[in-house]
Amino acid sequence: MRRKVFFIEGDGIGKEIWKAGRPVLDRALELASGGELQLEWVELLAGKKAFAETGSYLPQETIDILKNADLAMKGPLETPVGKGFRSLNVTLRQTLDLFACIRPVQYFEGIESPVKHPERVNMVVFRENTEDVYAGIEWAADSKEAKRLLTFLRDEMGVCLDERSGVGLKPMTANGSKRLIRKAIQFALDQRRQSVTLVHKGNIMKFTEGAFRNWGYELAAEEFAGQVICEGGDCCPPGKLVLKDRIADAMFQEVLIRPEQYDVVATPNLNGDYLSDALAAQVGGLGLAPGVNMSSRLAFFEPTHGTAPSIADKDLANPGSLVLSGALMFDHLGWHEAANRVRSAVGRAIALKKVTIDLATQIDGASKVGCKEFGETLMRFL
Ligand code: NAD
Repeated sequence: MRRKVFFIEGDGIGKEIWKAGRPVLDRALELASGGELQLEWVELLAGKKAFAETGSYLPQETIDILKNADLAMKGPLETPVGKGFRSLNVTLRQTLDLFACIRPVQYFEGIESPVKHPERVNMVVFRENTEDVYAGIEWAADSKEAKRLLTFLRDEMGVCLDERSGVGLKPMTANGSKRLIRKAIQFALDQRRQSVTLVHKGNIMKFTEGAFRNWGYELAAEEFAGQVICEGGDCCPPGKLVLKDRIADAMFQEVLIRPEQYDVVATPNLNGDYLSDALAAQVGGLGLAPGVNMSSRLAFFEPTHGTAPSIADKDLANPGSLVLSGALMFDHLGWHEAANRVRSAVGRAIALKKVTIDLATQIDGASKVGCKEFGETLMRFL
């Protein structure tokens, strides 16, 4: 079977991590399937490379192809500094309606961590990607728009706020919440995970975050009855997925104290932003953090780091997040053996302590290798 995957090289370290990482993915697939499974990589232009070739940072052709695609992967894209320029990443997320940001967080033995038992962390965070205060609907203090809204709130809604307030909105819908939670539950069932936790601040924000929680339980009852049971129910048959919820602030304690009790997490946009970075730090930083942004059609995989301009073109970049994003893509396709080979190769390279500089500074007694050599090491360990 041959699957087409569109890819964007990306800016900064993008070129090097693809060069070192893509052969690792192809080889893992070849070894896992005896050559039966293959990827057909088709490049799309975006970022500086696109600008150099077409005069546009995000050519319409790239968007059009991605709108009809089901599989893609990208390197990091720089947001060019300049007033009014929209982030290419945000533009892609909005244009393609990539509503679910999914980030697995797993520890690799040997990496220095700020906690005693980082190995107990094995979670996948599903962050809603389009709603919440993150939608960016806000007006500056003293602006005409803020004053108008404050007047409306006072006169029409009986809400008296300081007239010099800056104001932002927090829109959250049943549809937006449910499609994210549906994806999290389906993922947990497909991957035979044990639980899904809805993380919210519903005790305070009842009609947004509280509603997120309620919509989650509603969805589970409507669409996953018989497959999902709620925490604290009378019986807990083995093999069923447990659905639970936690208040966001308590969850930050929980993941430090008893991370082994949490598995798949589904949460609104802002909580997810904080929680996924905190969890990544708990297992040793963003250096090995893969991710995927998904719409109802497209799975768009990407390393979560940026373009790292200060180390670009110096053979210093770590291709780890890129190959782990590839492993995530293999899992998504049901090609689990190839995915496991990639993850185990990263684990073995770390155990050998011959790693790129970002990891070498986090591992006692490690010696550093370049991006290219790290890729070659991964190939040997597949
Ligand atoms: P960054 O992730 O590029 O860099 C943060 C730090 O991590 C730097 O010290 C960098 O050298 C290091 N680093 C990152 N990836 C590394 C790797 N693979 N190997 C070794 N070291 C690595 O974040 P930033 O500096 O805030 O952003 C730089 C640019 O990247 C900005 O233009 C930003 O908009 C963009 N960015 C893009 C994405 C994306 O495309 N998804 C994500 C974040 C930032």
